[in-house]
Amino acid sequence: MATTRKRTPRQHTFVSAGGGAVTPTTGRATGNSGLLRVLAVVMWLLGIGCEVIAVLAVKRPELLDFMPSMWRMVGALVIDLVLVIIGSQCWKKANRISPASRKSPVKFWLWNNLGVIMSVIAFAPFILLLLTDKNADGKTKKIGAVLAVVALVIAGLTSYDFSPVAQEDIDQVCWAAGGSVYHIYEDCYHLDRTEELTVGSVEEAQAAGKDRLCYTCQANYQADMEAQGSEVEDLNDLNGRADDADLDADDLMDLDLIPDAA
Ligand SMILES: [Zn+2]
Repeated sequence: MATTRKRTPRQHTFVSAGGGAVTPTTGRATGNSGLLRVLAVVMWLLGIGCEVIAVLAVKRPELLDFMPSMWRMVGALVIDLVLVIIGSQCWKKANRISPASRKSPVKFWLWNNLGVIMSVIAFAPFILLLLTDKNADGKTKKIGAVLAVVALVIAGLTSYDFSPVAQEDIDQVCWAAGGSVYHIYEDCYHLDRTEELTVGSVEEAQAAGKDRLCYTCQANYQADMEAQGSEVEDLNDLNGRADDADLDADDLMDLDLIPDAA
């Protein structure tokens, strides 16, 4: 659910269909999640490229001999860290826009932990190669190892998603006890006559006798998506049994054939 309409909507109280607490929704994040994921992967790969440069600065100091190898190592690790952090922020943003479903636990875990995994890949091999290098001098080992461990911790903490979002969380819908449809916008004008809204999944809405998604919410959602240049998400999951919907009062109001009773 989201609050994007311009008029002042009625304040609602919420109850959860499942009987638990209502999870607060921050609205649907929009944007191009595909592009963000590509950006994240490119940043991570560039970060790993910097890690390779840091390894070469230690193992083959005669290569790329444009500055002292110590500074090459430090510089490469710092740029590595910056790139990994940027990549992980892109990835987390993409997860807000198009999260994984809890129904596929492996993908859900991977989607929410990939930033941490990439942080480990971007620093751990360097640490291992540095500490097992018999030729590297003590000062290089000490500075390189401390720096890389600190960078790994910072990258891991900033990459970890402390409040992961699932597809099910943003697919929450709400409905009024008396209506025959469910809504994705809590400030939909059809809900102005109702104080208490029930919040739950599409399945729970249908179990409560709400056959399909409100046409106004559907149109608003598509307009929002297009206005922000986002990919229009397939609404089939939210549409329910739209095919066999017969016209009822809500539909007639959707079509502006009868005025809103409020
Ligand atoms: Zn609606």
